Amino acid sequence: MKEIKRILFALLFFVLLFCSANPPRLIPKVVLLLSFDGIRWDSIKDVKGFSLVEKEGFKVEKMRSVFPSLTFPAHASIATGTFPKNHGVVSSVFLEKNSKRRFSDEKEAEWLLTPPLWVLIEKKGLKSAVCAWPLSSGSWKGIYPTYYKPYSDELTDREIEEWVITCLKMRDKPNLIMAWFHGADYAGHKYGPKSPEYMEAVERSGKIIERILKAIKIEKMENRTALLIASDHGMSEVKKEIDLASRIPKKSFFPYIAISGPVANIYVENPRQYNIVKESLKPLKNACLVFEKQEVPQEFTTGDTSRSGDFLAICNPGDVFLPFRSPKKEVLKGMHGYSPSNLNMCGIFLACGDGVPKSKKEEACIVDICPTVLKMLGISENENIDGKALF
Ligand SMILES: [Zn+2]
Repeated sequence: MKEIKRILFALLFFVLLFCSANPPRLIPKVVLLLSFDGIRWDSIKDVKGFSLVEKEGFKVEKMRSVFPSLTFPAHASIATGTFPKNHGVVSSVFLEKNSKRRFSDEKEAEWLLTPPLWVLIEKKGLKSAVCAWPLSSGSWKGIYPTYYKPYSDELTDREIEEWVITCLKMRDKPNLIMAWFHGADYAGHKYGPKSPEYMEAVERSGKIIERILKAIKIEKMENRTALLIASDHGMSEVKKEIDLASRIPKKSFFPYIAISGPVANIYVENPRQYNIVKESLKPLKNACLVFEKQEVPQEFTTGDTSRSGDFLAICNPGDVFLPFRSPKKEVLKGMHGYSPSNLNMCGIFLACGDGVPKSKKEEACIVDICPTVLKMLGISENENIDGKALF
């Protein structure tokens, strides 16, 4: 009898040991986060790929971007869960005044002041795969994604899609696959958000989603995969151009004027130059918003660091600052970058698959995406993240 008891105790001990070493993992094996650039919240109605995801899962009707609603600051916010005042990418073009380093659609992750998703999950021992995501090149404090494909001008949406599917087929699958797609941004800028070309680009993005859903099925991964679809901002029709740069007397490097569509950061060297620039911007007060750094309202603040201009000028919705033209000097028909409270700047967010509830939310912000992904991967939220998990 004693012998049987001893065996039972030993068995119980090993069962408990096994359970504590392998706690039940209710997390999905793979989370895909795909960003389709420039797709506006109201453009995906009845577009098949998007409606398939919506029918199966979760949708935010209007996904607010951040200020400025530009590709680089917004993708940095999606990746880090923080606002530009914290992640430091204050525009798509800016100056770091202290170091005189210039940022212009830079690719290196080291520009980020807060850690991106791939770093947060690699630190926990999970694997990430990142393709063409803005600001994902190189290491962030020594940490790289496990699998990586850099952005290049020649990279097509079809090639990015193939790379995502290759990641899904890997034997040693990544826990997180992040990929950026051209989406409808180019067509939106060139032809405007109401054009057939813009809608065709949205349809093409829908087809990519359809094929990726099919690939998940072929791999028999439906029960172990969550698919998250996002965009960085919407698109507004361009009405007129405002000439800001030629008003500011330019001596040498300073005053430095950094223009990104409807947003201009202006940096000065000394108090004398400050007063000259202040005077030269006065006639623009009726044409656009102009703030001195210390008076920028909460809605437009990008922080009190050397990356934010001494002056910030913002166009009214529909206007853009010159010079902002395509290489062929064509006037663009669509633009973004305006306040995220402008409905035309809202993007999309949809999700389906393992761990995703069947529900809808009227509004959320792109900073909520990062904490959602972390929660899905079983990582407790980092207190330095501005957003909140969506489910
Ligand atoms: Zn964009």
